[in-house]
Amino acid sequence: MFEKVLIANRGEIALRVQRACRELGIKTVVVHSEADREAKYVKLADESVCIGPAASAQSYLNIPAIISAAEVTDAQAIHPGYGFLSENADFAERVETSGFVFIGPKAETIRLMGDKVSAKDAMKAAGVPCVPGSDGALPEDPKEIVKIARAVGYPVIIKAAGGGGGRGMRVVHTEAALVNAVAMTRQEAGQFFGNPAVYMEKFLENPRHVEIQVLADEYKNAIYLGERDCSMQRRHQKVIEEAPAPHIPARLISRIGERCAEACRKIGYRGAGTFEFLYENGEFYFIEMNTRVQVEHPVSEMITGVDIVQEQIRVAAGEKLRYKQKDIVFRGHAIECRINAEDPFTFVPSPGNIEFYHPPGGPGIRVDSHIYQGYRVPPHYDSMVAKVISYGDTREQAIRRMRIALSEMSIQGIKTNIPLHQELMQDARFIEGGTSIHYLEHKLADKSEVKA
Ligand code: ADP
Repeated sequence: MFEKVLIANRGEIALRVQRACRELGIKTVVVHSEADREAKYVKLADESVCIGPAASAQSYLNIPAIISAAEVTDAQAIHPGYGFLSENADFAERVETSGFVFIGPKAETIRLMGDKVSAKDAMKAAGVPCVPGSDGALPEDPKEIVKIARAVGYPVIIKAAGGGGGRGMRVVHTEAALVNAVAMTRQEAGQFFGNPAVYMEKFLENPRHVEIQVLADEYKNAIYLGERDCSMQRRHQKVIEEAPAPHIPARLISRIGERCAEACRKIGYRGAGTFEFLYENGEFYFIEMNTRVQVEHPVSEMITGVDIVQEQIRVAAGEKLRYKQKDIVFRGHAIECRINAEDPFTFVPSPGNIEFYHPPGGPGIRVDSHIYQGYRVPPHYDSMVAKVISYGDTREQAIRRMRIALSEMSIQGIKTNIPLHQELMQDARFIEGGTSIHYLEHKLADKSEVKA
């Protein structure tokens, strides 16, 4: 096992990784920007290194500064968390060529999955069902594009091969709008992602977002840790996640889960990963793979008892996966609410000083957060300040416990979206379970109409 790991991230995930390391007896180095110097998790780490000013481009995305920090502290491995450099193949490569272990898959795997066209090709070849669409990137010839769209059937969605974060996508309903939409998406893709390639998919009208968590080691052992339903989204950003996904038969989950584990073996996947699917009318359609730990990993941990971050570190250190599929038993239900520093109704970010903080507790409640009373939420980064996770024997119990937790939780000095979560925990359709990815947007739009 490693003696010392460098954590190349910030906020709650930096603390989460630090806790996993500590339990494994590993010393930690946290790198931080000038804006995060005073954070408690920075002081809690065995060592810390300031790697630059507040702006991410000069700190959390600064590859030479992070590698130098690993060199001066004699760390053996680097954990990238999520976001920032976690899915940057060049970073993974630089880490390894500099003599450190990257806690994640091989750079070539990240590269393969980072291009959505090559990712879909690889998944098709591995027997994972994909959204019907163009075979690979779209050609230049407008006539060909029209032909492909006719075969796929309208509405279609044009997506950037290098896209991410919910950007670089355009829905097309009619042939008249098609060629122009492809040109515009291509142009944006080149501008934002440095890769003008675009592809086409059938636009699914009312799908749910259901994803499969996997764990694999470098000896081609791979398992799945069940599914998560992340359909409650705003602007393609997840707001609430849960496991298991309501009303999906267990046999469908095990079938798709097995396929994902098999795909991991086929592509030589290593570490933790997530296969994201759209789910509609009993069918799963692969959309992309995330080659890192995800924000919502705790709900899977709660229902399986597996510490995903620790397992990530173990397999990166060359250990064999300690679990076989039959060891994984799904028990109970877990829900995660992402608590953001933002206005609960306008969604305008609300950084600033936390004047009072009271976290919730009690049976079945887990809070993953780096904040405390007196902590200043910096304006430079993502607005998520905490994740509240509730666990219950049943979904109903998890919801009841979440309601209590949200009512106890108090964060003052900044605005948070706790009131939105409280509303959603009382929402009849959420309580029923199985809402589509459009549900929250529609609900918010209806509300703003009522107000106007
Ligand atoms: P990103 O990498 O930017 O997150 P994804 O491919 O994962 O892009 O898609 C993000 C979201 O966009 C999905 O969760 C879904 O809400 C919507 N989406 C993507 N592809 C389709 C599709 N074929 N039909 C309907 N919605 C889609």
